[in-house]
Amino acid sequence: MDDFNIKAILEKLDVFEKTYESIRIVDPLNKKILTNNKDDSAVEKLNCFDFWGKNKVCDNCVSIRAYNENNTYVKFEYNSDAIFMVTAIPYEVEDRRVVIELLKDATDSLIFDKAEGQSEDKSEIYSLIDNLNKLALKDTLTGLYNRRYINEKLPVDLINTMLSEQNLSVVIADIDFFKKVNDIYGHLAGDRVLKIFVDTLKGCLSRTSDWIGRFGGEEFLICLPGADLEISLKTIESMRKTIEEKDIIFEGSKIKITASFGIYSLIPNSTDSIDDLIQKADEKLYLAKKNGRNRIEY
Ligand code: GH3
Ligand code: MG
Ligand code: MG
Repeated sequence: MDDFNIKAILEKLDVFEKTYESIRIVDPLNKKILTNNKDDSAVEKLNCFDFWGKNKVCDNCVSIRAYNENNTYVKFEYNSDAIFMVTAIPYEVEDRRVVIELLKDATDSLIFDKAEGQSEDKSEIYSLIDNLNKLALKDTLTGLYNRRYINEKLPVDLINTMLSEQNLSVVIADIDFFKKVNDIYGHLAGDRVLKIFVDTLKGCLSRTSDWIGRFGGEEFLICLPGADLEISLKTIESMRKTIEEKDIIFEGSKIKITASFGIYSLIPNSTDSIDDLIQKADEKLYLAKKNGRNRIEY
């Protein structure tokens, strides 16, 4: 799609100029600004998150959510100048989906108790916004990233992997016979086991780019950017072994569990989609269950 078509979207949004401080069209997969209403061509070389001055992708990226779910999302975000309400609207143009971001300065409407003659203390509202943005992505029981975040983060990691021609390993882990834990010890014990399982998995990760999401009930997705099969096998084997050896104590009972793992390692220059990655890891997990559980297949 050429610049002309992108700029034409902005022309249609002229009426909003008075309401919003900034209107920009972004490509949320690549985190790039395609254009904005300031008609400043330099901005088009920037990442969309540069505006927030945080030097990293936003935790709660409403634009990738708008893109994935074809729906409008809103959040608050701030930079050193102001607090903004961000509205992300998906928009189809020439068979391509982009996202329109409307940024409205909400500083004055959010800071109420500014004392006379004093500069306002924004730290409280900043931490409130940070917490709110994290909450949207976290699973409450385990504190892990939830399914929604998996859908948002995995495409970003996949794109970075393709651009840098690196490896990426995706692993699906599933606790063996977990239903029995609930049946024998009760649901609360099951919850406790889930938390300890997750802490154990986390303890085996060594790099800051590694992350874990809760895929569903007792199923987890482990993403290891940059890890080839050999590295991921080492990490996952340490998880499998630590879980197997752990005594989980709940109200005086000693609970033992094991887990099965399916690894799919993406080689550089592969053309796998997100769905391919997940499906291939899931097929390996199925194999691990079929071949006796408490094992890894790849
Ligand atoms: P398999 O080895 O084939 O994976 O057997 P399984 O029993 O682990 O698998 P199944 O899918 O039959 O059962 C999963 C169970 O996980 C059923 C469900 O009650 C339980 N579960 C899912 N989410 C939670 C949760 O948040 N807390 C608790 N306590 N149990 C959960
Ligand atoms: Mg299970
Ligand atoms: Mg399961």
